Amino acid sequence: MKIMIVEDDVPSRDLLQLFLADFGQCDLASNGRQALDAVEKAMDAGNPYDLICMDIMMPEMDGMEALRAIRRLEIKHFIKESDSVKIIMVTAKGQAGDVMDAFDSGCEAYIIKPVSKEKLYAQLEELGLIAQPDSI
Ligand SMILES: [Mg+2]
Repeated sequence: MKIMIVEDDVPSRDLLQLFLADFGQCDLASNGRQALDAVEKAMDAGNPYDLICMDIMMPEMDGMEALRAIRRLEIKHFIKESDSVKIIMVTAKGQAGDVMDAFDSGCEAYIIKPVSKEKLYAQLEELGLIAQPDSI
């Protein structure tokens, strides 16, 4: 699958890349603006992303803003909900309100840092992106 990791903190980005590299090409972005540009390019090229793991607190455009912008872009491109990219927010923001806002804005999953392989793979499995975690 085609994956993008959106994270301004390099160690966190490296860690996610390490966890996800086995599942496909991982593109990297360090803020929401870069992510949005890459998402639009991929859509225009007819090769959209399958999964985006995205931080919230980032410079230029934060993850919440990027999340909403990506969903608007999908609507603009007439992408069906069933074909839309799966977006997992991966963030230190752990308040119930933050989580609710993110789901209201269109994410599929929410992981509170520190991220672990187990937490991440459990979400990927729940979203139907990978097979049983034990078989990996
Ligand atoms: Mg950050």
